[in-house]
Amino acid sequence: MRAVKLSSPNTVTLEEVDVPEPGPGEVRVKVAGAGLCHSDLHLVDMGDEWPAFGLTLGHEGAGTVDKLGPGVTAHKEGEPVIVNLVWSCGECRACVEGRDNACEVTGGRDSFPTGPGLGAQGSMADYIIVPSRHALPLGDIDPVGAGPLTDAALTPMRAINSVRDRLTPGATVVIIGIGGLGHMGLQIVKAISAATVICVDMDEKKLEHAKELGADETFTPDAGTAAKILAETGGYGADVVLDFVGVQPTVDLAAGAIAPEGKVRLVGLGGGKYPASAEISAPWGVNIQRSYGGTREDLLQVLALAHAGKIKIDYVTYPLDRFQQAFDDLRAGKIVGRAILVP
Ligand code: NAD
Ligand code: ZN
Ligand code: ZN
Repeated sequence: MRAVKLSSPNTVTLEEVDVPEPGPGEVRVKVAGAGLCHSDLHLVDMGDEWPAFGLTLGHEGAGTVDKLGPGVTAHKEGEPVIVNLVWSCGECRACVEGRDNACEVTGGRDSFPTGPGLGAQGSMADYIIVPSRHALPLGDIDPVGAGPLTDAALTPMRAINSVRDRLTPGATVVIIGIGGLGHMGLQIVKAISAATVICVDMDEKKLEHAKELGADETFTPDAGTAAKILAETGGYGADVVLDFVGVQPTVDLAAGAIAPEGKVRLVGLGGGKYPASAEISAPWGVNIQRSYGGTREDLLQVLALAHAGKIKIDYVTYPLDRFQQAFDDLRAGKIVGRAILVP
């Protein structure tokens, strides 16, 4: 079968490998579609620091169950499934407390729990092996376009669930970066709250997309954007800022626009530093959190919203063997929504 691998520093190649066999408790999934995340570009850009050359990429996979490993009873062949992003153990203290995106066994203090394309062989291939409990039923959702639900929607779902107490009617939410994650974060906020949503992106076509998806206001960022957001909120600031970029200018924008007692969620991996301060003039009570992936419960909520028709992935497909074009187009900012590789 074919697999898209991070084969050497900064190099992604399509390779021919054996079709893998599912072991005990595992299923083999025939991939229908594999989303391409900006994190995949970050992995490629790690160069020599990437620890696992030869890994098949792809952490947003969906398809149909193709073969059951010994002892698997929860699935049947032909069933459409989505592959969970976070391969938590399900039994450690963090997992039992419902914080499986911070699993103690498959993750650690400074590492995320393992997952496909991020430790285990990923979904940018004809087939993927998945622990049975991390293949979740898709029902009647088309598996070709479903993969990004497990990251592009799951990750915003977690960030948003952690700020739900601020999403009261009358609240203002700022979403920075309306790409794969941002276009889903916008739809989720709109689906679960009556908050006013202001979207920020440096690309006009992403802001057009945001308007189509119900954004109340859009801004391209410049030195005056925080002041504009303060003006929109009577000088008080935004109750929530979701930063899906995370570079210094966007983190500074979050800090400059957040309201007292507001909640900032840093999701994008742009390397920016939040200017936390004990100055008397800084807004009081601001809560800042980095946010990784999501929990199993978050994924079930994402699937429920998708089944209800309240959120949808906007995507463009590429044949698996045209993966390089997809990577190049994502890097060039050409993708509206998500790019999906189709084997
Ligand atoms: P994407 O490329 O699809 O979208 C990024 C968007 O940000 C684009 O619309 C782009 O125009 C916009 N943008 C870039 N720089 C900007 C700036 N300075 N100001 C305003 N807008 C800007 O990326 P994505 O796949 O949605 O991923 C977003 C980020 O989230 C990446 O850093 C990715 O690695 C990270 N990520 C984190 C997690 C997590 O668990 N924390 C999970 C998935 C992705
Ligand atoms: Zn991702
Ligand atoms: Zn665990």
